[in-house]
Amino acid sequence: MNVVYVGLGVMFFLWISFNLHRKRKNRNKIICVVDSNCTGCRRCIKRCKHHVLEVVEDEAGKRATVKYPDKCSACGDCLGKCKFNALKLIERV
Ligand code: SF4
Ligand code: SF4
Repeated sequence: MNVVYVGLGVMFFLWISFNLHRKRKNRNKIICVVDSNCTGCRRCIKRCKHHVLEVVEDEAGKRATVKYPDKCSACGDCLGKCKFNALKLIERV
């Protein structure tokens, strides 16, 4: 039983370390939508807990847009949800 607790502890420690590293690495970054690749599927929008993204529709069709850039923590959670390579993290200007 102790082995299970130690294993869980190690996994928790690794998870915290990974997230802290990712946060430090992306401190000055922000999400960006590549309009030409975006289908407006909304998968990224459902994933973002900070409600940074929104879908807009115009003559070119549906696509995601960064509505609240100040709220983006550059966590990267939305990146893994996009199957169309339409999101990337860029340096904040
Ligand atoms: S990087 Fe994180 S905070 Fe920024 S839009 Fe994606 S999920 Fe939201
Ligand atoms: S998951 Fe990708 S394709 Fe879908 S709305 Fe978001 S950026 Fe666009």
